[in-house]
Amino acid sequence: MKVFSFSSASSKLPSDVLEALGADIGEWSGAGLSALELPFTGKEFAGIAAFAEHDLRALLDLPESYHVLFLQGGASAQFSLLPMNLLGDLDHCDYVQSGHWSRRAIAAASLCCDARIIASGDGITLPDPSSWDRSPNAAYCHYTTNETADGLQFHSYPETVATPLVADMTADFLTRPIPVERFGLIYAGAQKNLGAAGLTIVIVHQDLLGRARSGTPAPFDYARQAQSKSRVNTPPTFAVLVARRMLAWLREQGGLAAAAARNRKKSGKLYAAIDRDDFYSCRASPRHRSSINVCFHLPDPSLDLLFAEEAHVKGLCHLRGHPEVGGVRASLYNAVTEDAVDALVSFMSDFKRRRG
Ligand SMILES: *Cc1c(COP(=O)(O)O)cnc(C)c1O
Repeated sequence: MKVFSFSSASSKLPSDVLEALGADIGEWSGAGLSALELPFTGKEFAGIAAFAEHDLRALLDLPESYHVLFLQGGASAQFSLLPMNLLGDLDHCDYVQSGHWSRRAIAAASLCCDARIIASGDGITLPDPSSWDRSPNAAYCHYTTNETADGLQFHSYPETVATPLVADMTADFLTRPIPVERFGLIYAGAQKNLGAAGLTIVIVHQDLLGRARSGTPAPFDYARQAQSKSRVNTPPTFAVLVARRMLAWLREQGGLAAAAARNRKKSGKLYAAIDRDDFYSCRASPRHRSSINVCFHLPDPSLDLLFAEEAHVKGLCHLRGHPEVGGVRASLYNAVTEDAVDALVSFMSDFKRRRG
C-alpha cells in the first residue's frame, strides 16, 4: 500500500533525494567511505558543506554580508541562544506572540532577558506587522513566520525598522521567496522542509556577530561558528548532506517561486475541501491560513480521532492535530506531493459521506 505522511516533523523527503542518499550511505562519491563515515575535518565534508551553502545562497540570492551556520540543537535551542548572542549591552528584546511556537520562544528568552510582548494574536488571526509596538532600542524583534501547531502564517513580511528583525522560519523555510535583506537573522530546523533532524540553519548578518555574552558555549556562539565555518566541533555531517541533496532538488524544481506555487496549490485544494460545507471547519481566518500546516476540526472531537485512525488504515498517516490544539493537521512541507493531497481530499469526502 502506498503511504502518504502528513507528519509535522520529521517530514517527507522526495524519492529522488532518498535514492541518492541510499547510494551515499553505501559510498560517498568515490571516497571509499560511507557518507556517514566522512571526517568532518576532511575535504569531502568541506565540499558537501560548501555545495549546500552555495545552493542555499543561490536560492535566496543571499548577500555576502550574511553568514550561513550549520548548527545542532534544533530551533528550540535558538530560543535561548538568540538573547545570549544578540543582546549585547542592551537589556530587552521585542517578541510577537502569535501561537504555540512563539510562546515557547518567549518563555525561553524570558529566562535570559527582558522579552517584551509587542503584539499578540488570538489563535484565529495574526497581529498585523503595522500594529506591532516595536521599541527603538530593543536588541531585536522576534516573530514566527508560520505557527505550525495553530495553522497560521504571515503572508507578507514586516518592513525594516531600526532594530534587527529575527524570524523562526522552521515550518516555512524555503517554501516561498524570502526578502532576506529585511532580516538580521533567520533560523530553521531542517527536519521540516530541508531534510533530516539534527541540523539547524542560522542565517545571520555580519553586523550582529560578536555580541555574545561571556559564558556562551563555543558551539552555540554564532561568531565563533561563523569564523570556523560551523566546525567549532563536529557538525551534524549526514544531516548537512541531506540538506545539500534537498537544496539541489529545490533548485532543480525551479527554486522558491515555484515551491510557493506548488505549496499554494496543495493547500488551496485542501482548504477548498474543508470549506465545501459545514462538516469540516478551519478556525484560522482565511487571511492567515497557513499554506504549510493545514489545521481543521470535525463536528465532534470524537470524530477527529476516528478520522485520523481510519485515514491511517488507508495509508494517510500522521494527521493528528498538535496535542494542545486537537483536531486534524496535514503538514504539506516541500516534499509532500499533490498526489498525497488528492488522496486526502478523496478520503475526506468519503469519510463525510459515511459519518456526516
Ligand atoms: C517545529 C518547530 C519548532 C521546533 O523545532 P525543533 O527543531 O524541534 O526545536 C520551532 N518553531 C517552529 C515554528 C516549528 O514549526
